[in-house]
Amino acid sequence: MNTPAEPSFRQSVDIMFNRAVALMDLPPGLEEKIRVCNATYTVRFGVRLRGQLQTFTGYRSVHSEHMEPVKGGIRFSLGVHQDEVEALAALMTYKCALVETPFGGSKGGLRIDPRLYEEHELEMITRRFAYELAKRDLINPSQNVPAPDMGTGEREMAWIADQYARMNTTDINARACVTGKPLNAGGIQGRVEATGRGVQYGLREFFRHDDDKAAAGLSGSLDGKRIIIQGLGNVGYHAAHFLSTEDGALITGIIEHDGALINDAGMNVDAVRDHIKETGGVKGCSQGTYVKNGAEILEAECDILIPAAMEGVINLHNAANVKAPLILEAANGPITAGADEILRKRGCVIIPDMYANAGGVTVSYFEWVKNLSHIRFGRLQRRQEEARHQVLVDELERLAGTETGQKLSPGFKEAYLHGAGELELVRSGLDDTMRAAYQAMSEVWHRRNDVHDLRVAAYLVSIDRVAKSYRAKGL
Ligand code: NAD
Repeated sequence: MNTPAEPSFRQSVDIMFNRAVALMDLPPGLEEKIRVCNATYTVRFGVRLRGQLQTFTGYRSVHSEHMEPVKGGIRFSLGVHQDEVEALAALMTYKCALVETPFGGSKGGLRIDPRLYEEHELEMITRRFAYELAKRDLINPSQNVPAPDMGTGEREMAWIADQYARMNTTDINARACVTGKPLNAGGIQGRVEATGRGVQYGLREFFRHDDDKAAAGLSGSLDGKRIIIQGLGNVGYHAAHFLSTEDGALITGIIEHDGALINDAGMNVDAVRDHIKETGGVKGCSQGTYVKNGAEILEAECDILIPAAMEGVINLHNAANVKAPLILEAANGPITAGADEILRKRGCVIIPDMYANAGGVTVSYFEWVKNLSHIRFGRLQRRQEEARHQVLVDELERLAGTETGQKLSPGFKEAYLHGAGELELVRSGLDDTMRAAYQAMSEVWHRRNDVHDLRVAAYLVSIDRVAKSYRAKGL
C-alpha cells in the first residue's frame, strides 16, 4: 500500500500559513515577504577532543526581522538540519507576534548528540559555536537573542553569555545576549518552568471557555482529566508536574524515548522523573505499566494529549488512530500538516504550538527586559507595597476590634501583606499573556464563520500583527 508523502516540517508550516493567508486580504508581495525565511547561516567548525579534531555543523536561521532583536532557541540534537531550523524560526515569528513579545523570529541548532560528550567537552563545543555566531551578530542583545531548546538548558546559556561577554568586554548589556540563563548569571526566576507553566495557564484558559470545551466534547474543569504526555524533559515535566499537583489532572500516560508508562489512576510525575534521572529511561518504573512501543500510547484513550518531545510525531501513519478529543502541542510542530487535516475532520480540537509553548519566549522577554534594566523585578516596589497594605490591615484590625469585636479571617493578613517578588511577578505576567493570547485566538475562531480551528485563528492574529509592522516600515 502506498502511503501519501508527508511534507517536510518547513512545508508543513508553510501549508498551515497558506491556509490562514487564504482568508486574509494581504497584497501578494507582503504575503511572500512574511512567509519566506530571511537568511540561514550554516557554520562548520572544528574542536579538538580526545586527541582528534572533530567537525560540527550548526545553523542559525533568521525568519523575520520586522522587529529586532530576533528571538529563538538553540537546539542540540542529531536531527538538526536546515529545513528544521527554518521551520522553527518561522514558528518563532508567529509565536512572538501572538503573545506580543517585541521580537522577530529566529532559531538555531547544532547537529550533535549531547549525551556523547563530557561536560568540559560540551563547554568547548558550545563556546566555539557561540563564538562563530557572535562574531556575525547572530548572537547580540539588540539583534539576535537565543534561548534554550531541546538538548540545551541553563548551563549552555551561561556558557554562551560568558563567551559573548568575553568578546564584547565593554558592552554593558552583554547579559541580554541570551535568555534562559541561571539566576546567578543574569537569569530570571521562573524561566526554567516557564514553558510548562505556560502550558498549564493555556489549558486553564481553555477550560474557562465553555464553547471551546464543548467543541472538544469536554466539560467541567481540569480536575480528574486524563492526560497523556510525550516527553518528560523541560517542557513536559513542568507541564505534567503542575497540572497534576495544582489542577488535579491525572497523568495516565508518559511516553519517553525508551517506551511508555500507563496507569489509569494517574502517576506521580516526580517519581517518574527521578527514575529517568537514575536509569536513563522509564523502563522499570513502578509508577505504571511499561509499554515498549511508546508511540502507540499516542493512540490511547485520554481527555488531553500533550506531545512535548519533538516534531512530526502525529503524522499520516497514526493520526486516524489518535483518540484524544483535545491535543495541546507543547512541542514545536508535533502534528504534521496532513495529520492536522485528519484530526480536524474528526472534530479534534488542537491548541497550536505557537500559542501552547509560548510561555518560554514570554519569560525570556521578561529576562531580556530585566537584563537591560539591570534590576530585579519587584526590588523597588515590593516592601513599599507591603507597607501600604500594612496601613490598611492596621486600620481594619482597629475597626474590627473597636466596632464589631470581630477578627480578620485566619491567613488573610499574611496573604494580603505579602508583596510580590520576582517569581510571583513573572508568573503573573505569564498568566496574563497566556490569557490575552488565548482570548485573541478564540475570539477570531468564534467570530469568523470561515475559521474552523484555533491554529488558523492563531495564524490570522499573528500574521495580521506582523503585516502591520511591515506596513509601518513602509513595505
Ligand atoms: P528536552 O530535551 O528537555 O526534553 C525532550 C524530552 O523528550 C526528553 O525527555 C527526551 O528523552 C524525550 N524524547 C526524545 N525523543 C523522544 C521520543 N521519540 N519519544 C518520546 N520522548 C522522547 O526538550 P524541551 O526543551 O522540553 O523541548 C521539547 C519540545 O518543546 C521541543 O519541540 C522544543 O522545540 C519545544 N519547546 C521548548 C521550549 C523550552 O523552553 N525548552 C520552549 C518552546 C518550545
